[in-house]
Amino acid sequence: MIGIIGSTNIDAYLKTDHFTKPGETQNSLDYKIFYGGKGANQASTVSKISNKQTAFLTCIGNDFYGTALQKEFDKNDLIGYQILKGEKTGRAFIEVEKTGENRIITAPGANHKMKKEMVDDFLDRFDKDLDIVLIQNELPKEIIDYSLTKLKEKNIKIFYDPAPKEKTDLSNLEHIFVLTPNLNEFSYIYEKTTNKKYDENKLKDQLLELKEKTKIENIIITLGKKGSLYINQNKEINEFGAFKVEAVDTTASGDVFNGTLVLEFLETEDLRKSIKKASAAAALSTTKIGAQTSIPTMEEIDEFLKN
Ligand code: ADP
Repeated sequence: MIGIIGSTNIDAYLKTDHFTKPGETQNSLDYKIFYGGKGANQASTVSKISNKQTAFLTCIGNDFYGTALQKEFDKNDLIGYQILKGEKTGRAFIEVEKTGENRIITAPGANHKMKKEMVDDFLDRFDKDLDIVLIQNELPKEIIDYSLTKLKEKNIKIFYDPAPKEKTDLSNLEHIFVLTPNLNEFSYIYEKTTNKKYDENKLKDQLLELKEKTKIENIIITLGKKGSLYINQNKEINEFGAFKVEAVDTTASGDVFNGTLVLEFLETEDLRKSIKKASAAAALSTTKIGAQTSIPTMEEIDEFLKN
């Protein structure tokens, strides 16, 4: 079984003519509400693509949004989530200018109320069944650190998406089976680990250097429409191109990539095969607007890979 520990948000997406100036009121050109949060996007990817029950530790409020999410989680067969009385469900308010530039304000709400005891309860309930846990950084830092330590003690394979980058603690990296930074997160971790400047032209050398300096077993750098770069336990580097699609919205492509990656790895124990499937799923997700609304089905992925 796959477990996910992470965040849940309700995203409000507002397209505007220009970024709203101080004191200005303007009507948006488009307004949408999405189910989001990295944890929930990844958990929904796993459950939707596998059609299997998936353990998801996340905290939501008992407000209006929490009630809607509860129905959505139950529909997607996600179990293990916590509803916190008197707390607000996490939100993200995303203003996207006509040019495509965005500004985001988050209100973490219940996401920041996760407690160590909840991690203990979750692992006690599921640890006999858990093969892999996927975790990201949209939780309080002490919860990320604690979860990583506990998962290591219990010998559960960890896939770690170090986003947003600031909460990545270098002392935790030796616990990791697969680290999946994007370029921005990679450069941050590289610079902190080596005290050297990140250089785009030396990406492969710097990837090898990071691998040698840490005990991370596998590192996959995702590079958006340029694909991904993978270094394995034997320090061999493999490049994967992205699939060519008409991308309309890349929101959550990294989350769909991560969710599909763990799922395929559980099936095949082959990271190269898993990266190929994850790249296909992520590419397909960019052809639809939204976060969880853009997750493809297994049939769609298989059909896409045949062509
Ligand atoms: P993040 O959203 O975490 O920053 P990336 O932007 O690197 O992650 O995207 C993750 C993966 O999604 C990439 O490695 C690639 O396989 C796929 N992907 C992202 N954008 C595109 C695109 N425009 N076309 C095809 N595949 C894409």
